[in-house]
Amino acid sequence: MNTTNPRVRFAPSPTGMLHVGNARTALYNWLFARRAGGVFLLRIEDTDLERSEERYEAQLMEDLRWLGLDWDEGPADADSGEKGEFGPYRQSERLAIYAEHTERLLNEGKAYPCFCTPEELEAERKQAVAGHGPQVYSGRCRTLDQTTIDENLAAGKPFAVRLKIEDHPLRFHDLVRGPVEFAAETVSDPILVRSATGGAGGMSEGIPVYNYVVTVDDALMEITHVIRGDDHISNTPKQVAIYEAFGWPVPEFAHLSTILGADRERLSKRHGATSISTFREMGYLPEALVNYLALLGWGAEDGKTETFTLEELTQAFSLERVTPSPAIFDFDKLNWLNRHYLKQAEPERLATLSWGYFSAQMAGADPAAVHTWFLQLLALFVPAVDHLDQLPATSAPVFGFDAEAARANEENAAVLAADSARTVLSELANRVRAHQGRVAPEAFKEWMNEIKAATGVKGKELFHPVRIAITGAHSGREFDKLLPLIEDGAALGINIPSVRQRIERFVGV
Ligand code: GLU
Repeated sequence: MNTTNPRVRFAPSPTGMLHVGNARTALYNWLFARRAGGVFLLRIEDTDLERSEERYEAQLMEDLRWLGLDWDEGPADADSGEKGEFGPYRQSERLAIYAEHTERLLNEGKAYPCFCTPEELEAERKQAVAGHGPQVYSGRCRTLDQTTIDENLAAGKPFAVRLKIEDHPLRFHDLVRGPVEFAAETVSDPILVRSATGGAGGMSEGIPVYNYVVTVDDALMEITHVIRGDDHISNTPKQVAIYEAFGWPVPEFAHLSTILGADRERLSKRHGATSISTFREMGYLPEALVNYLALLGWGAEDGKTETFTLEELTQAFSLERVTPSPAIFDFDKLNWLNRHYLKQAEPERLATLSWGYFSAQMAGADPAAVHTWFLQLLALFVPAVDHLDQLPATSAPVFGFDAEAARANEENAAVLAADSARTVLSELANRVRAHQGRVAPEAFKEWMNEIKAATGVKGKELFHPVRIAITGAHSGREFDKLLPLIEDGAALGINIPSVRQRIERFVGV
């Protein structure tokens, strides 16, 4: 086996969105290939024509690109032509290849037609259950004589093509789990092709099944390491038997553990976001997600480093350090990593990523005119979010001013109930009324000093009521940054009340 230049593949079925489990599989394959100077290829497993959809294929390619996982070989799409010399890379375009290989196995006597009906197979299964035997195919059609086969074919009886497995242990090496062995009788003769009718296409017509096509493709595409989810472990002995039947070398395997939610149930939508595109819409950065996915089942050699760029992961990653125990998806940790990368992100990038969250609030504002202001807004509020789609709610002190709601809020009401609060606010309102034009931060500061001197109120008693009157809350981001932001935003024509309007409204309520 060629281990100096490994060839690995990510082989998703385009039947739904790319979720974290599959994205981690793609990432580990990619890291393994990049680290070893090998090839990472993308193969689309779209033989389930009813469930496969082009939009899912396009979306998963977009998601992979967004994560930074480029492929060296793969099918053509809107952005690129087919890459690589082992194509086609869509299984739906490889049916002739599978048919040709089925023909070969049948001719060599390594596969045989099985005419058992679903009812017969079900009866066999029930009998096995009753007798506490293994629920596997009995091999009844293995020994059909040629005359019976010919009669069945002539009568147009549908059949499946089954692989004849000789009785011997089916072994493979798993880089995560070590040597694995299955007894042949626990596998029995697996179906390679179903619903064949022996029509014009000959014996090989019909629907080739997953275990068969995946093996033919992995062999023909010269895959050296099959890295995938551990839900495929029980399929692997069947695939090993197919490699053996063709006389192909069996690749190395690495089966990755299941990803669980905090309740140790299989991760599902119930636990929160699971698809990559949802994380993207929520304003997670791809580098945070990649970093987090890498840690789901793999850990650094020093046992403590947790932040890795894709480049650093490429240096550090090894399958030997991948654990077979289930990984628990921890949203808090993902959020922690996202905050880490948000802190490092270029302001311009954050502005591009965040503009969409404010489309309602900024309707009518010219993006170019408010650009600097928007950067200031982000500088103030991005440090307060886990992911960018929290920005509209977090920046409510700027956009969501509502005097009545501010008064009605219980915590605010407690602050405002003090006599000192009433005095402070009326002093402030007097000054605002006596003042012409915009409220400059310097003027505001001066008023606060004057009010402090005139009333003797200071500290929290002085500042909390004022904060409530202007931002709707007694605590939050730095006030001396918020105040000019509000004032400048209103002056730029963003649809928010100015400081003056806020104070007047609040005092008037
Ligand atoms: N299409 C299969 C899946 O998405 C691929 C499994 C494999 O990697 O062999 O589960």
